[in-house]
Amino acid sequence: MKIRIFRILLTVFLVFVLYAWVNTNDLGPLDLYYLRHAGHFLGVLGVCFLFMQFVLTSRVKQLEEGFGLDRMLNEHRLYGRIGLLLIVLHFLFLIFYQWIEFGSISININFLYGIVALVGFSITAAIASTYKRLGIAYEVWKNIHLINYILFPVALVHVFLNARPGSLLFYLWLVLAAGYAALIFYRLYKIFYMRRHPFVVVEVRQEADDIWSIYFKGKNFSYKPGQFLMIQLMRNGNLSSSHPFSISSSPTRKHISITPKELGDFTSTIKDTKVGDQAFIDAPYGLFSFLNYDIDELVFIAGGIGITPFMSMLRYINDRQLKKKVTLFWANKNKNNLCFQDELEKMQKEMYAFTAVLVMSGQDDWPGEQGRFNGKLLQKYLPDLEGKDFFVCGPPPMSKAVRAELEKLNIPLNKIHYEVFEL
Ligand SMILES: Cc1cc2nc3c(=O)[nH]c(=O)nc-3n(C[C@H](O)[C@H](O)[C@H](O)COP(=O)(O)OP(=O)(O)OC[C@H]3O[C@@H](n4cnc5c(N)ncnc54)[C@H](O)[C@@H]3O)c2cc1C
Repeated sequence: MKIRIFRILLTVFLVFVLYAWVNTNDLGPLDLYYLRHAGHFLGVLGVCFLFMQFVLTSRVKQLEEGFGLDRMLNEHRLYGRIGLLLIVLHFLFLIFYQWIEFGSISININFLYGIVALVGFSITAAIASTYKRLGIAYEVWKNIHLINYILFPVALVHVFLNARPGSLLFYLWLVLAAGYAALIFYRLYKIFYMRRHPFVVVEVRQEADDIWSIYFKGKNFSYKPGQFLMIQLMRNGNLSSSHPFSISSSPTRKHISITPKELGDFTSTIKDTKVGDQAFIDAPYGLFSFLNYDIDELVFIAGGIGITPFMSMLRYINDRQLKKKVTLFWANKNKNNLCFQDELEKMQKEMYAFTAVLVMSGQDDWPGEQGRFNGKLLQKYLPDLEGKDFFVCGPPPMSKAVRAELEKLNIPLNKIHYEVFEL
């Protein structure tokens, strides 16, 4: 489902929520009660937005195929912020109403459920937006964030205690609760399915000092070159957390592979992976594939290990002998960061039209291009930028810088496609 259609459906849903709310409440003349009504309505909307957050992290295939997991997660963050803001306003409006109407605030069990949910969501949201600055490890942050799966039922108890049985709003909460249960079931089923169909490591290949390719065999799944997977490795009886990696193999090949570069806790243990170890793979994800567009001239711009989805696409184009004109710009610090060099050279001879331009920012004796990737370098190799699509992959700062360079050259945004190595 495309993001625009999702937003239209969400708007229709919210209009229905408004209708259900008006239908449930006896709205009298404009007076102090409207403060209370407004407070309630903000709460109703807030819970709907919070529910949407779970829809967006559910990884439901039909949604992901239109959005891409990264955009789904961006949307999830947006709805989370809106939902939280709405329930904070809900709380403030109702407190304010009670204070001016009764001169005190009534604290009952329903109020306590609401407060637990509100405080809990606020803490998990605050940690989500500051974990990097606070130096909290990704896994720790993620596990704390999972508490939201308990907080949402607490919020639902709060709304059920408030709802009038038999009212339209009451049925809406029932539908939301059933939808939430279905999402939980879907995620658990996916985990169960993965555990029942493990992949097995068939090869561990060193590509550079700190870069390794791991090849797997297992129940085949179809994917497009350039897509990514989520993987958990089971080594010596220890199950790792789930990490995203671009699939570096091509669907034309027998085995699936990923190519991690050592960076942190998990990736620096990749070299310890052994043939025969098990892996649980959830895939495929992402929209970063030239197969999603009807184009013949492709410009690939990779930063460091961002080469991996391009290897998948290049292998595919070569194996299928597609008549595509491809230019790859690959920016690295020095030649120690390089991998797949021999294969790229071979591909330049075998493919219909493929040029690889390797750019080094920190090696003075590099015989090829020096410095950082920029618009000037692009135009040196491609004087005519018309009719080409640009695929950019690498760490977030590099993607941002490349995007700025492409924008300076007036390349339309719909011609630039991204994979950012950060979710
Ligand atoms: C779509 C996508 C494709 C990727 N493809 C590749 C690839 O082909 N090769 C490669 O080397 N790297 C790739 N990465 C990056 C890779 O996922 C991270 O480098 C890796 O998860 C870091 O884990 P760590 O424990 O070693 O490092 P840490 O030092 O723990 O984390 C470094 C950073 O990686 C991210 N990260 C850490 N753990 C996770 C996690 N469990 N889930 C999501 N993000 C996490 C966080 O932004 C964190 O700040 C890709 C990332 C994405 C999103």
